[in-house]
Amino acid sequence: MAQGAKTRGGHIDAEKVNPEIAEIRKVTPYKAIDSPNRFYQYNDVKSMCDFIEKIREHTGIPVGIKMVIGGTDSVEELASYMKETGKGPDFISLDGGEGGTGASYQELIDSVGLPIKSALPILVSTLEKYGVRNRVKIIASGKLFTPDRIAIALAMGADLVNIARGFMIAIGCIQTMKCHSNACPVGVATTDPELQKALVIDEKKYRVVNFLVTLRKGLFRISAAAGLDSPIHFQPKHISYKDDKGIVTSLEDIMKEVNGQIGSRQ
Ligand code: SF4
Repeated sequence: MAQGAKTRGGHIDAEKVNPEIAEIRKVTPYKAIDSPNRFYQYNDVKSMCDFIEKIREHTGIPVGIKMVIGGTDSVEELASYMKETGKGPDFISLDGGEGGTGASYQELIDSVGLPIKSALPILVSTLEKYGVRNRVKIIASGKLFTPDRIAIALAMGADLVNIARGFMIAIGCIQTMKCHSNACPVGVATTDPELQKALVIDEKKYRVVNFLVTLRKGLFRISAAAGLDSPIHFQPKHISYKDDKGIVTSLEDIMKEVNGQIGSRQ
């Protein structure tokens, strides 16, 4: 339903839609594509869950949703419906408002959607409140491209993380945020054959592998430092924040506070 910065839906400038892309996406070449930011198949939690059931029946595989949250209401509605009906997604991919794209409006990129470190505790606590946490896997994303950020997301209750930006940077993205145009200067997000020359696959593939291997090693190193034999065992008690004045707050206390706030809502 949403990616961090893409609450507007997707957009690709006409110039980028060459015949190959047009054929794949079944659209007219060299005409801008605006992907809607909603599905016509559903318009509320009930019809969304019905649609999920339909896809699951047809495919026989787990079906999830990807979302960004701006508050507690929508998650509360979903969790309550899941409890009441036994329906719902098999996984929720939760993106922070910082989840990136250049193909959006600046004010949406900058300000819409809670960051993942605020959104995750809300989602986890709300699913727990309605007793449905164990029915759904939580996948966290939103600039989670370093071992410490991944460890924090796991400690907050994510089952796993998604990484896009880290791999984009590994293949050369310099974050110019022109992905929707055809002018990506490093050849990553362009159909311009001249610019594409900058994306030397024989070199970049090693960078991707190096990033992944190094990231994994770093995550296991942090786990070992916390006395854990695997990152999957991170819990809130392993994480502490220090503010500018040196005051320390544990994630455990933050999670308790969020739990209390969610629990007291009717
Ligand atoms: S460098 Fe290319 S892929 Fe990266 S943000 Fe800019 S346009 Fe997008």
